[in-house]
Amino acid sequence: MKKSCKYCAIPNRELTSKDYFDKIELWSRYVKEGLFEFKGGDTSLADLREEISREEMFAYYHYFKCDCGNYIRTGVCIRSSVPILEYINELPAEIDKDLQNLEKVSSSLNQPEIGHKLLDTEIKILKEKYNESIQNVKKISVITILIAVIALLLPIELWNIIIIPRKRLHNLPEIVEPMYENVSMIIILIIIVTLTPILTYYGFSYLIKKDLKYKDKIRGIYKIERIENLSKMVAKKLDGLDTVLHFEKNESKIKKHLFNKSKNPELLKAKSILIECSKYSRTIFKEKIIIDDK
Ligand SMILES: [Zn+2]
Repeated sequence: MKKSCKYCAIPNRELTSKDYFDKIELWSRYVKEGLFEFKGGDTSLADLREEISREEMFAYYHYFKCDCGNYIRTGVCIRSSVPILEYINELPAEIDKDLQNLEKVSSSLNQPEIGHKLLDTEIKILKEKYNESIQNVKKISVITILIAVIALLLPIELWNIIIIPRKRLHNLPEIVEPMYENVSMIIILIIIVTLTPILTYYGFSYLIKKDLKYKDKIRGIYKIERIENLSKMVAKKLDGLDTVLHFEKNESKIKKHLFNKSKNPELLKAKSILIECSKYSRTIFKEKIIIDDK
């Protein structure tokens, strides 16, 4: 028998139909979360229960692939109370052929991979972040306009005080005209006032907007490259965090994880980290350190 991971574990006893429906429900959720791939079968995953209850076929089979590489066959037979949940070495030829055709069609349509779409809860988080970021753009616009107006109206004497240290360095002439009569100053301020909100918008809000439009998610498992032990001095400053996991280069901003090895000794056996983030703004939804439990 193949090694299972905690996601694709199958009870090691005679199975009941409750086991079957529990696993179908769990694995359907994993498919949505991107931990499992649904490889096809006699019905779609969404219609599975309904179709089975019609009993139009003698048996219904469905195929999954777990993240750990295991292929799983599930089956119910309407004449038998014992369902099938088993690991298989490869997909049956007809399912594999269907999938290859499907992949051809979907790649020609340029569709993103199954299981790599944002969930409703994640879309909600992004919407909130988007509204927040738009508020920020507005705030920043108001603040830059205020600063520009203050700069223009600031008395000449004050300007001269501000630039005295630089004047000594560069031999700048004294300012004699008020700033609002200084054309180059006005042009500079107009550029700053226009560009600041635009750059702020494109730096973040726009990326979230793109996420909300395409709903694509990046999901990756990244290796832990090395484990670093920090010196006692450093650990003391970090409230006892004495060990660092360094992750392999990845799309998210997560590069390392600090922990205390006497509190979390299991992390010393960590092999990789699973990170899920949105494609454009790289908003992180999930980060989970994976410890090889077998
Ligand atoms: Zn697995």
